Amino acid sequence: MSSGEIKLTVMPVGKFEASLSWLLFDPARVVGTRQEPHKAAPWVDVPVHSVLIQHPEGNLLWDTGLPRDWETKWAPTGLTDYWPVVAEEQEWFDSRLRQAGVETGDIDFLVFSHLHWDHAGNGWMFNGTDAKVVCSQAEYEGAFGFDGYCDGPFIRSDYGELPFETVQEDTEILPGVTLLQTPGHTWGTMSLQVDLPDTGTMIFTSDAIFLGDNFGPPAVTPGIVHDSQKWLSSVEKIRGIAERTDATVIFGHDAEQAKHMRSAPDYYT
Ligand SMILES: [Zn+2]
Repeated sequence: MSSGEIKLTVMPVGKFEASLSWLLFDPARVVGTRQEPHKAAPWVDVPVHSVLIQHPEGNLLWDTGLPRDWETKWAPTGLTDYWPVVAEEQEWFDSRLRQAGVETGDIDFLVFSHLHWDHAGNGWMFNGTDAKVVCSQAEYEGAFGFDGYCDGPFIRSDYGELPFETVQEDTEILPGVTLLQTPGHTWGTMSLQVDLPDTGTMIFTSDAIFLGDNFGPPAVTPGIVHDSQKWLSSVEKIRGIAERTDATVIFGHDAEQAKHMRSAPDYYT
């Protein structure tokens, strides 16, 4: 890699299986009718990714994926049967880092889109490293604002020991790499904008937008959302930036899109 070059690797880090009704409140697909009162929403694949950006000014990691011990770790939440995890050995987050030739100590910037268990699930692996750890101020306040083991899919031990620095505005954290405030899914969900010399602009929405079907237009809300008005504003904010920059928008959990992504060991420049 010559100096001045950015290398962006999308790392698929396993998947959930889940009812589509969590992700997309499209009545035609997830709600029963007089003719079909017991209609079940489709059971779908929900892939998860992390993003590694090897930048002349440092290595940045966006999200940490699913934990190997999800079944025991998540048992106290009572939610494991709704979101069972499926991953091959080579897909787990630590396997992907190894394949990329990167160790936790090589990460200079560890940025969390938000602190749900499928994004912060391996955050603890960075306890004691020198990485600058970043999330939004609103997410920090929410995710540290409860007592006990968990609050739904926020599991304190995933992220609770990390020395967070927080951001409140859209922030260019490295030249060409910008954190966008896109709340609504959670208190302070962020998206990631990367301006690449060859590929152009990519926007990783994380769970600000689960699926292309949520993006539309028109936007279709998920079945679970913390604040639906903020969610919609964030979707339209992303749409505006994407139109201005002619960006490729990468959704948080879109199985169809994931099939067509360049993924590790391939990368974008
Ligand atoms: Zn997620």
